[in-house]
Amino acid sequence: MAVRIHPTSDVAADAVIGDGTAIWLFCQVRPGAHIGKNCNLGKGVYIDNDVQIGDNVKIQNNVSVYHGVTLEDGVFAGPHVCFTNDMRPRAVNPDLSVKSADDWVVSKTLVKKGAGLGANSTIRCGITIGEWAMVGSGSVVTHDVPAYALVYGNPARIHGFVCACGEKLNKGEVKNGMVKAVCPECKATVDIPLTDWEKIE
Ligand SMILES: [Zn+2]
Repeated sequence: MAVRIHPTSDVAADAVIGDGTAIWLFCQVRPGAHIGKNCNLGKGVYIDNDVQIGDNVKIQNNVSVYHGVTLEDGVFAGPHVCFTNDMRPRAVNPDLSVKSADDWVVSKTLVKKGAGLGANSTIRCGITIGEWAMVGSGSVVTHDVPAYALVYGNPARIHGFVCACGEKLNKGEVKNGMVKAVCPECKATVDIPLTDWEKIE
């Protein structure tokens, strides 16, 4: 399937865009970025230098994916999700001289396959969001999120675990330090470490 790029968008010549991906109005994709197949970039999306994005990723309007952020296959980033990449944000040095592009450290962020980030959530740099995790809208995520965890609030805390289908999982049998969690909707079962399950608030 063809790549679709709206004429108002600016895509670097050496960026790689997978088949079937659509890039809507007023997007910018910078050099070295790699976007997989069948992705959808809404209006006003910014993809920074060398950012890696998997297949089947949906990025809603006005999301900036900064250098150091990686989105694996099937990630959903809702409107206005805010990524960061600088743990010590300063425009200037202590003598008020302006910082150059080289005198700060990038902190990497990894969002693993299938994870969903709600609208306007803020993702602190340097963390990993586990596969199929779900972040509630408006949350501020300051720590790693386990796979399948449902987190929300500021700071975001674990309020349950969700199935790949999105439904909240019920606690089943506990065996060998693992919870056999069951989806009431699609009947799937997911093994969640008991140490993670006990973090539910
Ligand atoms: Zn399910």
